[in-house]
Amino acid sequence: MNAPNPCVADLVQAIRNVPDFPQPGIQFKDITPVLANGRLFKKCIEQLVGDFKPGDVDAVVGIDARGFIFAAAAALKLECGFVPVRKKGKLPFQTYEQSYDLEYGSNTIAIHTDAIRHGSRVLLIDDLLATGGTAAAATQLLKKVGANILEISFFIELSFLNGRDKLQGVPIRSLVIY
Ligand code: AMP
Repeated sequence: MNAPNPCVADLVQAIRNVPDFPQPGIQFKDITPVLANGRLFKKCIEQLVGDFKPGDVDAVVGIDARGFIFAAAAALKLECGFVPVRKKGKLPFQTYEQSYDLEYGSNTIAIHTDAIRHGSRVLLIDDLLATGGTAAAATQLLKKVGANILEISFFIELSFLNGRDKLQGVPIRSLVIY
């Protein structure tokens, strides 16, 4: 892990490393022990939101599926709306779609065409930044709807996969960096 941040040492302790899941060679970062602890979950949301206050953000966008957990809680804290970016075929109304490669496999994500008003100030949240394909695709979707992305926040970043390279031009916050 790079430059341990003492403020999040208790969050780091709670992240469970599961080797070879969902396939050999992947070390899965299991965040469910953090979610199960009310104090840690609250702290995680506070850290993800950073200095943003109610009124600063029009919508928090979360990425299917674990991103929803953090983004919905952050939206409550910021007293703004929550918008889901979902896997293809799950949203019922008209959508924009974007395909991308994962650390394992590939995927297509979608957003409702009317989810966000043009020019809205948006905070994008996901649980983990790996290769950056997912977040880059979500960024493309947000550009299609005309959102103004204030920041992208991740609970965990796997920096050795260089995901930030795909997210240039947008401020990024990662709480725990491996
Ligand atoms: P990527 O598009 O490669 O940045 O992958 C990020 C997405 O895949 C996130 O939404 C994570 O939930 C998931 N993911 C990728 N790698 C891992 C991992 N090692 N542990 C847990 N989740 C992961």
